Amino acid sequence: MICLGIESTAHTFGAAVIRNKEVLSNIKKSYTTESGGIVPQKAAEHHVAEFDTIVKDALEKASLSIKDIDLITFSNAPGLGHTLRIGAHVARSIAVLHDVPIIGVNHCIAHLEIGKLLTKAKDPVLLYVSGANTQVIAFEGGKYRVFGETLDTGIGNFIDTFARYIGLGFPGGPKLEKMAYLSENYIRLPYNVKGMDVSFSGILTKLKRLFDESKHKTEDLAYSMQETVFAMLLEVSERAMAHCGKKELLLGGGVACNTRLQDMAKKMCEERGAECFVLENQYNVDNAAMIAHLGLKMFKAGVRHDIDMPIDPYERTDDIEVSW
Ligand code: AMP
Ligand code: MG
Repeated sequence: MICLGIESTAHTFGAAVIRNKEVLSNIKKSYTTESGGIVPQKAAEHHVAEFDTIVKDALEKASLSIKDIDLITFSNAPGLGHTLRIGAHVARSIAVLHDVPIIGVNHCIAHLEIGKLLTKAKDPVLLYVSGANTQVIAFEGGKYRVFGETLDTGIGNFIDTFARYIGLGFPGGPKLEKMAYLSENYIRLPYNVKGMDVSFSGILTKLKRLFDESKHKTEDLAYSMQETVFAMLLEVSERAMAHCGKKELLLGGGVACNTRLQDMAKKMCEERGAECFVLENQYNVDNAAMIAHLGLKMFKAGVRHDIDMPIDPYERTDDIEVSW
């Protein structure tokens, strides 16, 4: 079966084509800003302006035409209402015009499933670290369950906010990563793990204050920030692995592109005799290949959705009934 997937939960609009388990194309374009965060309305306008070229590119790269598509899937949750709606409209229009079935897919679960498709991971704990999301997810007792999460902002948004504060622009994650490699001078920061959850807002306040005091090098702040928050995330991930008795950790989300996080995750896994799986960056960030893959998997398991399958900006990972 050939499936076209559409991703639009936030600043990225993506289209991808897969043939059964083979990714034929994975195209995306992201709305970015010079200052400030994502303005939902502007991101939606970006998606409206770009979607047709992105879908066309995805089909071209796969050497297929829209008539070859057997199924269309789209991320219907969770995310920004403004942008989710654009992806839903695109998917519904194609489904109606070309008379193909449609499936709505949960974005967070798709991050886990693409990891299982493209790595040797069979039943991993997913550390999902993106702009808006920070969750430790695993499949347990017939459902995808959240074992720990942020109590305030997502890690990527936290990193980007600090980067903007010190004048690095958006997205700040990759720039702070480079800067962090220039230091090994650890400055003590709050370490905020609460049970299985993490919180970043206090650390952000402290970082801003330290930056304003100008007593420390910015490199030292970048280094200390990464060491602290990555250690927090891996502490919670490790505890989830121990609790579930799982021996695999998968990284996902844009922040999973960070090589220091990857190294720390590999080390933690090595020490407990577990395996760590890291995807290519194009599958860490928001992408449509994962939406195509999970949607096709659901369809093959007998899931059917109506053409007006609604979007749900606030859907919880553990709300989903799993039949696939
Ligand atoms: P996503 O929401 O999954 O598309 O991921 C976007 C987030 O990933 C943004 O907050 C970026 O700053 C962050 N990001 C991307 N690359 C890196 C990196 N190398 N280190 C840390 N954060 C990163
Ligand atoms: Mg994501």
